[in-house]
Amino acid sequence: MKNAQFSRRHFIHQMGTAAIVIPGLTSLGLQSCGSKKDESTSESPSSTTTTTGSERKLGIALVGLGKYSEGELAPALEKTTNCRLAGIVTGSPDKADTWKKKYDLPDKNVYDYKNFDKIVDNPDIDIVYVVLPNSMHAEYTIRAAKAGKHVICEKPMAMNPEECQQMIDACKKANRQLSIGYRLHFEPHNREMMRLGQQEVFGKVNRIIAEDGQVQDDSTPWRLGGGIGGGGPLRDVGVYCLQGAIYTKGQIPIAVSAKLHPVTDPKKFSKVEEGVDFQLFFADGTTADCKASFNEKFNKLRAEAAKGWFELAPAYAYSGLKGKTSQGKMEIENVPQQAHQMDAFAECILKNQPTTVPGELGMRDVQLIEAIFEAARTGRKVSTKDVLQVMDKSALA
Ligand code: NAD
Repeated sequence: MKNAQFSRRHFIHQMGTAAIVIPGLTSLGLQSCGSKKDESTSESPSSTTTTTGSERKLGIALVGLGKYSEGELAPALEKTTNCRLAGIVTGSPDKADTWKKKYDLPDKNVYDYKNFDKIVDNPDIDIVYVVLPNSMHAEYTIRAAKAGKHVICEKPMAMNPEECQQMIDACKKANRQLSIGYRLHFEPHNREMMRLGQQEVFGKVNRIIAEDGQVQDDSTPWRLGGGIGGGGPLRDVGVYCLQGAIYTKGQIPIAVSAKLHPVTDPKKFSKVEEGVDFQLFFADGTTADCKASFNEKFNKLRAEAAKGWFELAPAYAYSGLKGKTSQGKMEIENVPQQAHQMDAFAECILKNQPTTVPGELGMRDVQLIEAIFEAARTGRKVSTKDVLQVMDKSALA
């Protein structure tokens, strides 16, 4: 695959004292914060003392007030204990008015895309959360870092590994943390899949099935390649399959193969793929059969192991996740995932410890996405040995 410059050695050099385990190499040693939040996040916003004992909640500014910000992140910020909605960045004066009223935001904490850089002077904002179309992630992450803010960037991190590296470099230069909006790392059903797989509770995992598909309408045209573009099912929902397979197996694939689905709706899918089947190959012979689509519904993560199986269906939804194993039902409660995710990141910042889902994890997945597209284009198996060897192995801690 391309981008061999993003090698294991390069990564280790870049990471310095990171909090994550590099498979096959020595653990870099620090226990990261934010990985064991399943019970600790209160659903009640009444306390002003954070889970770290701090009196001050970190201020988050949401950049881009589209569906995800409006429907999930802003409501979640009313359930967080370590952070709060402190500001917004929007190009729409109407939205600004509505949000100011709804969330009691002062004028000075409302920005548009032109004056956004002035956020550098605003001490109310500690974290900028980039919730824009994918092709805008790099620009706004870099501008936020230059303004001295910690950043959460939505998935997929960016359009290519080069952009990812620039984002990582910008945050490093500003001495700010960068995290990716990977909410499922903080979701207890998915954490159970990590535990069962990585600890080999049912023996060695031999096969994984990871499927995420939805019937995409044109309400966000960029997802179908319109306007600013950057969409398509592999980048949008396929990233959950990649993530799920990797954190369940506890390894990074060494090669991928892929085949695009036939186009059944040429009008809708003239700019992005309609769907894609892809296989991940792991060094120990395990395979993951993955599927992402914008024209079919599925939502599953399943692992078949030497002594049993375990699965989630739905696996990647915001709520209503259900799990079972060959020994019976998983009795696990659903939690406000985004609240857990943002609280965990805020806790890392308050404790000055690294996040379990840093930019490097996002870059690894963008490298894998590139390899999958290359495999689909060429019809060949593509080596992924040069992708960043970074994993969330907090399930083993
Ligand atoms: P959306 O289209 O509803 O929102 C995007 C926002 O960006 C809109 O408010 C839009 O006005 C604004 N915007 C600014 N400049 C724009 C431009 N030039 N073109 C188009 N829009 C522009 O999309 P969304 O569903 O909210 O997704 C936003 C991001 O969040 C994406 O990266 C997506 O992958 C991610 N997301 C993540 C999850 C998750 O579970 N982690 C879920 C949904 C979306």
